[in-house]
Amino acid sequence: MSDSAQESYDVVVAGGGIVGAACALACTQAGLRVALVEREILGGGATAAGMGHIVVMDDSEAQFSLTRRSQQLWQALSPSLPPNAEYENRGTIWVAADDNELAEAARKHAFLDARGVPSRLLSSRELAALEPNLRPGLAGGLLAIDDAVVYPPAVALHLARQAQSLGATLLVGHSVTHLADGEARLDGGTVLRAPRLVNATGADASFCSPDLPVKKRKGHLAITDRYPGFVHHQLVELGYLKSAHSLTTDSVAFNVQPRKTGQVLIGSSRQYGNEEATVDQAMLSAMLQRAALYMPAIASLNVLRVWTGFRAATPDKLPLIGPVPGDPTLWLATGHEGLGITTALATAELIAGLLTGSEPAFAPEPYRPDRFSPAFAQKTAPQEQL
Ligand SMILES: Cc1cc2nc3c(=O)[nH]c(=O)nc-3n(C[C@H](O)[C@H](O)[C@H](O)COP(=O)(O)OP(=O)(O)OC[C@H]3O[C@@H](n4cnc5c(N)ncnc54)[C@H](O)[C@@H]3O)c2cc1C
Repeated sequence: MSDSAQESYDVVVAGGGIVGAACALACTQAGLRVALVEREILGGGATAAGMGHIVVMDDSEAQFSLTRRSQQLWQALSPSLPPNAEYENRGTIWVAADDNELAEAARKHAFLDARGVPSRLLSSRELAALEPNLRPGLAGGLLAIDDAVVYPPAVALHLARQAQSLGATLLVGHSVTHLADGEARLDGGTVLRAPRLVNATGADASFCSPDLPVKKRKGHLAITDRYPGFVHHQLVELGYLKSAHSLTTDSVAFNVQPRKTGQVLIGSSRQYGNEEATVDQAMLSAMLQRAALYMPAIASLNVLRVWTGFRAATPDKLPLIGPVPGDPTLWLATGHEGLGITTALATAELIAGLLTGSEPAFAPEPYRPDRFSPAFAQKTAPQEQL
C-alpha cells in the first residue's frame, strides 16, 4: 500500500502479538474484512518473551471462565497447529511444599472438580515418582491434567497467516500512530478506516488511550541446553500464587517447563517500576536460586539464554476486552498480564462474537474496560453490531 493511501475494512487490529493475531483470525472467520497492523514482527513483543504455559486459573470465576474456555479452544486448535508450535499436553503440577500448601492444593482440586476440570491430588510419594528431580520431602501437589505447553511466537505467526489465507490484510513494519474515531493512521501517512478498531498492542496499549489502567510488569526467563527427561510436567510452586498476586513487591517463584526440544525453561519473576529490557542480575539470580531450592540439580544445568519481557497488568488481574468508553469505534484486547498466551483464543472469540452479535460462550461483562471508570461508562455509546 502506498503512503497516504486510504483503505476501508470492517475491523483494523493494531498489534500482531498472539492476541492481535488471534483476533484477526477470529474476525476474519466471522466474515469480517480485517487488516492487522504490526510495527515490528508478528509474534514479537511479550508473545516472544512468554513461557507458553496454557493454564486454567481460579483466582476468580471470571478468570476461570476465560482461561478454561481458552484452554478448550487450544485443545480444539492443537491438531491443526504446525510442528514448530510445539504444543504438548504436559499438565501442570502445583507443588505443595508444606501442609498449608497441601490444603491449598485440596481447595484448588475441589474448585476444579466442581467445574468439571480434571485434576488429581498427589501424595508426597506420587509427586516424587512423577518428578524425581524435585527435592525430597515436599508435601505433595495437584496435577491439572488438561494444562499444556506451546511455543507462542510460532502460533502467533500461524494464526496471522491463517487470517491472511482467508482474506485478511497483514501490514507488517508499520506503526499505528493514531487509533480512534474509526481511523487508524500509520507512520508514513496511510489511513485505514473501519467502524471497529481493536487495540491489541499489549503493554504499549496506552499509546492511544492514555488513561488506560495498564502497567508494565517485567519478567525474566532462562532456558537451558537440552536435558530430555529432566522434567516432565509444568511445575509451579503453590507459593507462586502469593507472588503473582502481590501488586507492589518484586517477586520470584519456582516455575519450570519442559520444552519439546528437551530444554528446560526456568521462570519466573515479577517486577513493577522497571521498564528497562536489560536483565536484572539480582532478580535473575534470585529466580535461579528459587528454582534450585525446588530442583537442586537445576543448578548444574547449562543456561543458554536469558531474557526479559513485559506483561500488561491491570489492577484487578483481568484483561480489558471490549469498547473503550467515549469512542464506540475503539475496542481493547489487552491487559492479559501473565495469561495472554492462555487466554488469546477466548479473547479473540469474545471480540469476534461481540462484533458480529453471536452468543458468547461466557459472560463478557467482567472484562469490559468501563469497569474501571463510572465516568467513562456514562460516555459509552450503545454498541452496534457489524
Ligand atoms: C516472562 C513472561 C512469561 C510469561 N509466561 C506466560 C505463560 O506461561 N502463559 C501465558 O498465558 N502467558 C504468559 N505470559 C504473558 C503473555 O506472554 C502475554 O500476556 C501475551 O504475550 C500478550 O500478547 P499480546 O498480543 O497482547 O501482546 P504482545 O505479544 O506484546 O504483542 C503486541 C504487539 O503490538 C505491537 N505494537 C505495539 N505498539 C504498536 C503500534 N503502535 N503499532 C503497531 N504495532 C504495535 C508490538 O510490536 C507487539 O508485536 C508471560 C509474559 C512474560 C513477560
